[in-house]
Amino acid sequence: MSARNRYTCGWIRNIYQQLFSYFGPQHWWPAESPFEVIIGAILTQNTAWTNVEQAISRLKQKQLLTPQKLYRIKTKTLAGLIRSCGYYNIKAARLKSFLQALFCDFGGCLKSLFSLSTPKLREKLLQINGIGPETADSILLYAAERPVFVVDAYTKRLLLRHRLIKNKYSYQQIQDLFTKNLPRNLKMFNEYHALIVRLGKEYCRSQARCQLCPLNRKG
Ligand code: SF4
Repeated sequence: MSARNRYTCGWIRNIYQQLFSYFGPQHWWPAESPFEVIIGAILTQNTAWTNVEQAISRLKQKQLLTPQKLYRIKTKTLAGLIRSCGYYNIKAARLKSFLQALFCDFGGCLKSLFSLSTPKLREKLLQINGIGPETADSILLYAAERPVFVVDAYTKRLLLRHRLIKNKYSYQQIQDLFTKNLPRNLKMFNEYHALIVRLGKEYCRSQARCQLCPLNRKG
């Protein structure tokens, strides 16, 4: 292993420990069922989580948060119910695409979808309109409980600022940095992504707050 790779490997492992010691467990994903995780993962694209919470609680109030009920509801009605999330017509169509795949290929049964191997399940999710790598990996990690590392904009910003990647790095290259340098541990991957999001929201924002950041504290 080159000195550079050794440095990256040590950094990736140390940062997890530092973040976990500072913030503690994050208890992700905030949802009552794997299906709710999937709905949240699709709705959270390009919007704040508080907007997703509103939409999900609306679906719950109307007792619609089941695959069967959302499959039957009209796309236009669904769009109205998830209005708080922004891009609601697009997101309603995306939810419908997921449900279409779930019902056409797996009889509407999440357990059956989740019986696929991790590579096959990822491939299947990526074939669905509107599900990209970050959403697919969020579903794999937080709904299907597979040890897959989720990369998001906060992760990229953190690594860029610490000069561990270049701007041109692909999703896959960034994901490999974590998966190749960490044990494949579901609990750790779950926490690590959640901790990076917490760091990104509170310290490593678009205007970095380095002086206050837990990664800058000694001891
Ligand atoms: S806020 Fe500064 S010290 Fe903290 S993670 Fe971002 S770049 Fe690093």
